[in-house]
Amino acid sequence: LSMLHHKGSIPHPHRLSAAFTSKLTDVIEKNNERKSHDLRRLSLITVSDSRSSKDSSHGSLQEVLDHAVLAETPTDPYLIQENKYPFLRNLRTDEDIGDGLWICCYCHHENTLRHWKGPFPFKYIHCDRCTRILCSSCHSSEVLTPWPYGMISAPRPAPGREVRYCHVCVVCGLSHRAEMEGTTLDFYGVTCSGCGITSYGDWPRFHIGNVEPYRRDPDPSFVKLIEARVDDAVKLAFQWELASVESRPPSRLSCRSPG
Ligand SMILES: [Zn+2]
Ligand SMILES: [Zn+2]
Ligand SMILES: [Zn+2]
Repeated sequence: LSMLHHKGSIPHPHRLSAAFTSKLTDVIEKNNERKSHDLRRLSLITVSDSRSSKDSSHGSLQEVLDHAVLAETPTDPYLIQENKYPFLRNLRTDEDIGDGLWICCYCHHENTLRHWKGPFPFKYIHCDRCTRILCSSCHSSEVLTPWPYGMISAPRPAPGREVRYCHVCVVCGLSHRAEMEGTTLDFYGVTCSGCGITSYGDWPRFHIGNVEPYRRDPDPSFVKLIEARVDDAVKLAFQWELASVESRPPSRLSCRSPG
């Protein structure tokens, strides 16, 4: 919790190499813009909450996290009927299963994921057992689908919907919803609201995928995730084989398979 009270700061230019400086100016400008934007956003939330005192800037992040509302709609009964054992599936609530799970690559603990509305879609992503932060080697269900660094174009979210891409601070594990301009995703120059470190676009990125497959069959098992990955690899190999038979350029296929 002590991390929550750490104030964000912009790294001093003198501490960084000269090669960085020109780029850094842009980043700092961007950060300042973003910071004032975030502060406005936070103060809006703070003002609307009668319990908060006006000078509690330290408390703002915690307040945003505490008052976050779940983003995904409750499980539709038809999904439960599609389960192999609808009766058993019916015994489990959305609160119980969450929106997905991730397997810690270090201790293999299964952690539940919940998608929240607002700027921190999964709040802090720490392993419940070993407290390590989710990293790009951890496995997760569709709601947190690894997103390759090169891909910065994506369809706009539907009107009134939030961007379904996020990245996770490598220092404190706070997840940040990506910003979007048109169809371009922006993962750069974000100052972590949790620990104050700045992302130069290097945090692990994720697409916030469809929760239905998991909600249909939430059986949380490491084997299932591993099998899914093996399955993907087999399908991909098959596609490549087809492609070479039909002598299509393989680059078209490589776009389809970010995993
Ligand atoms: Zn762990
Ligand atoms: Zn990991
Ligand atoms: Zn952080």
